[in-house]
Amino acid sequence: MSHPNPSSTPKPVQHPFKTVTEVHAAFNKKIISPLEFTRELLNSAKTSQSGAFLTLCEDRAITSAVVATDILNQEGQVPRDRMPLFGIPLGVKDLITIEGVKTTAGSKTLENYIPPYTATCISLLESAGAIILGKTNLDEFGMGSSNENSAFGPVQHPTHPDRVPGGSSGGSAAAVKGGLCVAALGTDTGGSIRLPASFCGVVGLKPTYGRISRYGQIAYASSLDQIGPLAHNVEDAALLFDVMSGHDPLDSTCSPRGRAQGYQATRVKLDWSAIRIGVPKEYMVEGLAPEVEKAIQNSLEWFKQKGARIKPISLPHSPYSVAVYYVVAVSEASSNLARMDGVRFGNRPFGAAEAKNLAEYYQKVRANFGPEVKRRIILGTFALSSGYSEAYYKRACQVRRKIKEDFDNAFREVDLIVGPVSPTTAFKVGEKISDPLQMYLNDIFTIPVNLAGLPAISVPCGNDGEGLSIGLQMIAPAFGEERLLSAAHSFFERLS
Ligand code: GLN
Repeated sequence: MSHPNPSSTPKPVQHPFKTVTEVHAAFNKKIISPLEFTRELLNSAKTSQSGAFLTLCEDRAITSAVVATDILNQEGQVPRDRMPLFGIPLGVKDLITIEGVKTTAGSKTLENYIPPYTATCISLLESAGAIILGKTNLDEFGMGSSNENSAFGPVQHPTHPDRVPGGSSGGSAAAVKGGLCVAALGTDTGGSIRLPASFCGVVGLKPTYGRISRYGQIAYASSLDQIGPLAHNVEDAALLFDVMSGHDPLDSTCSPRGRAQGYQATRVKLDWSAIRIGVPKEYMVEGLAPEVEKAIQNSLEWFKQKGARIKPISLPHSPYSVAVYYVVAVSEASSNLARMDGVRFGNRPFGAAEAKNLAEYYQKVRANFGPEVKRRIILGTFALSSGYSEAYYKRACQVRRKIKEDFDNAFREVDLIVGPVSPTTAFKVGEKISDPLQMYLNDIFTIPVNLAGLPAISVPCGNDGEGLSIGLQMIAPAFGEERLLSAAHSFFERLS
């Protein structure tokens, strides 16, 4: 794929069918066939300069689109009850495996890795009629907030070329906003779905931990990772979420619950007068950009007008979240990435074959990790090392429990918690890349949700003076996606 050209303004693809409903209406009216639509998007992705896609699975996509077109010709109408995502082209973050399709995790270490199996979520989406177009760009192994840590080049922000799209699922957010696919999958360990959704102006849902199988997701931090959808609207995010949700015997951390009914929840009119909304005082703090604060206040005004009760709440341990996260996440990452030893996964690094001895071999393997990944492996190995794990990892787990208890206490008094996704709108390319701590602080409002295992969504709620999108974060109790999606849908539709 071509790489971003910072001097050119990206042009979103201008086909008129953006959402699942619009695409299905176009299929039903025979304005375009699934095959024509898939071809059109593949061509757009191929010529795009955005860097959003790393690999296209053209053959797989065309085969699925031919089948969909045959079904449509035979049945005359989209079989939406049977296949809610019939003929819908999707992007998939390149951290999720598909048999026979190169899966790099944005890393040189997996540059040539062809997985022998398919993630459960992909099988479920394809059974529901979805068409997988290809794999989207990301920060290496999901580590980053700007998509500048990909070994295969950055991703261009879909409307402002001097800005980052957010990360680590930046390719997915940019591909959706740029019209290269109808919806996409991301993964969220500390904010990687919600942050790029907020920066690019799309909807991003991070489900409850365990609600969607992670079988086939390359692990970053196993107690935090969760797969979720990015889409143009809440309904589409709900459709993808429902299809992917449910128990999977192949993932022992996957909840035994059955399939979610999020889409159905968006169809029912919400009685706002029964909803209590908590606003954490720790989220409306100094350092929040004034335009972000204003957009959040305006959103709260809207909720109030609809009859919801707004309550100030406190999450007293949330200021420790970033510190706790960067012990837990790096510790789990150092353990998970130990398998990238250059022997498995067909990832023998370039030059390693000529290594004179084992030490030199491993040196070459390590050279294939980018600086952020190396930094985290070193930190994580230290935090878990004998004599230190009590002081760091165990302590972090204890504070993590406190953070979760704060949410449990808050949800005794409120139904939803609302606040910003990020302290600022999309920042400039290069602005934070040399200052890891500044980069880590972007996730200050998203990380607590992962530590507590809760579902949360980013919904566009305004723009700053430069036209950059601002996301509103809505958080629900564990397994409360139905109510979350219903409220988010009502809010999202306020302007239509
Ligand atoms: N930015 C955070 C990190 O770098 C979160 C990433 C994620 O959610 N995958 O770890």
